[in-house]
Amino acid sequence: MGHQAADCVSRPRGLRCLPIMTKPACPACTLDDVLEHSDHWECSTCGHEWPKEEAPEVARVVKDANGNVLAEGDSITVIKDLKLGGSQVLKAGSKAKNIRLVAGDHEIDCKIDGTAFMLKACFVKKA
Ligand SMILES: [Zn+2]
Repeated sequence: MGHQAADCVSRPRGLRCLPIMTKPACPACTLDDVLEHSDHWECSTCGHEWPKEEAPEVARVVKDANGNVLAEGDSITVIKDLKLGGSQVLKAGSKAKNIRLVAGDHEIDCKIDGTAFMLKACFVKKA
């Protein structure tokens, strides 16, 4: 229902793609011997029942340094020099087009001059 399974295929660098409707572990006893009913789960180990939920398709709101909401496909500009490890620096003013939003503390997956970067949204602004 509204899951975009096809989207999983093109994710770069093995980003985690949650399988759809896998059986959850029991929230009461943490075992995963779980029975599936039409609208709820039942733990066959301890009998705990709990409602089904849509897989948490992350309705994330990612905001740039100015508080503007970023969306997939947006273009962004880096607002400060970012150290990349070693002596490399991603310069303020670097631009990326067609960003992707991903889970994690670096919310933006993008390419700058052909190199893939994961950036924190607080260090960019919408271009
Ligand atoms: Zn249980």
